[in-house]
Amino acid sequence: MTPGHGAGPVLIRADRLIDGTGAAPVPDAVLLVDEGRVAGVFRGQAPEGLVSPNAPVLDYRGCTLLPGLIDAHVHLNLPGDGSTLEQAVQEADGVLVATATFAVTRALAAGITTVRDMGAARSTVFQVRRAMELGHGHGARIVAGGQPITITGGHTWYLGGEADGVDGVRRKVREMARLGADFIKVMASGGGTVGTMSWLPAFRRDELAALVEEAHRMDRKAVAHCLCAASIDDAVEAGVDQIEHANFLVDPAGHQEFVPATAEKVARAGVPVTGTLAVGGTMLKALSAKPDRTAPEQALLDRWRRMHDQNMAHFRKLHEAGVKHVAGTDAGWRFTPIEGLPLEMELMGEAGLPAMDVLVAATGRAAAVIEVGDRVGTLVPGKLADVIAVPGNPLDDLGCLRDVRLVVQGGAVHVARPPLGHRD
Ligand SMILES: [Zn+2]
Repeated sequence: MTPGHGAGPVLIRADRLIDGTGAAPVPDAVLLVDEGRVAGVFRGQAPEGLVSPNAPVLDYRGCTLLPGLIDAHVHLNLPGDGSTLEQAVQEADGVLVATATFAVTRALAAGITTVRDMGAARSTVFQVRRAMELGHGHGARIVAGGQPITITGGHTWYLGGEADGVDGVRRKVREMARLGADFIKVMASGGGTVGTMSWLPAFRRDELAALVEEAHRMDRKAVAHCLCAASIDDAVEAGVDQIEHANFLVDPAGHQEFVPATAEKVARAGVPVTGTLAVGGTMLKALSAKPDRTAPEQALLDRWRRMHDQNMAHFRKLHEAGVKHVAGTDAGWRFTPIEGLPLEMELMGEAGLPAMDVLVAATGRAAAVIEVGDRVGTLVPGKLADVIAVPGNPLDDLGCLRDVRLVVQGGAVHVARPPLGHRD
């Protein structure tokens, strides 16, 4: 079914509509979709004469309409089944392409209509994006950076993104642009890759500054992975556009120490942060569900419990310092599934963001930050009709986002389940 896709206009009716801009919900809402785009949002009914009385109506009373969700941090190559990066990259590129294809399909079915891939092997994710551009299948829209640029032996070096020195990083930025990168991802600290140092900055400052300058010269944003305060400081000073994780690790044991001056610097620079809280949330769930834990497994669980608590506390402090967050899960990494965005949003709420701010962080603001805001992210006339319906009211319970009833992408209906299911 493709409402408003050459087949004439279609109306979608629901208890309320939240448009993703942060504006108050529209009660008793009617959304008009025409030619695959949002053509109007009305209260009660569409104005007389605007739409034929015979126009089809999708009746989602009992539900809330929202823009299709956006996950600003995923790894489509990775299965999210607990595998480590080291295990996943043993597979041939064809397997990584297939995994990414399955992932975007699953994301779309969960109401996630756009994803930003934050690190993939070689050209694999660009190839999936190309197949979708050719119309060979459906899935979440892909914004992709390709290989994260990393120091030799640095975080995720297996993906192909190693570069060193000012000339080396400039060349690597140009190579990513040639492959089709929408933005440039840089690993400004170590990470969860074996042998890397997550508590230390990775690049020298002159390398980081050159990388950001080259990305901007190529008209692309630079997005930095930062797990320690010094890497955040360096990234902001180098002029990066966004920061991923923004953790405050201080040692190999996973201890963190929040640095208020660093948080204020991020806020002052207006650099948005993706929290990726779901990684700890899913890790804790998986590790604590395992019976008869060995001593190393128990140690890992204790470590993650501490890290997750600190991540939640520091997310809250960043928010209080005035940092703007966008929703992103790190889906694919370890136990984080591609459908993990509702969990991320619930954790953002638990960490102190008002529910409306959480919804904007996964729709309008996410779209602006990942530079698709001219097309999607809000339900305002002219935007592509990426629309979901969820039962109840997400402002009261973000958990309802786990139970998506309707998924429309660019005016095409991909999921149309009855509006009220097991939750009533
Ligand atoms: Zn990541």
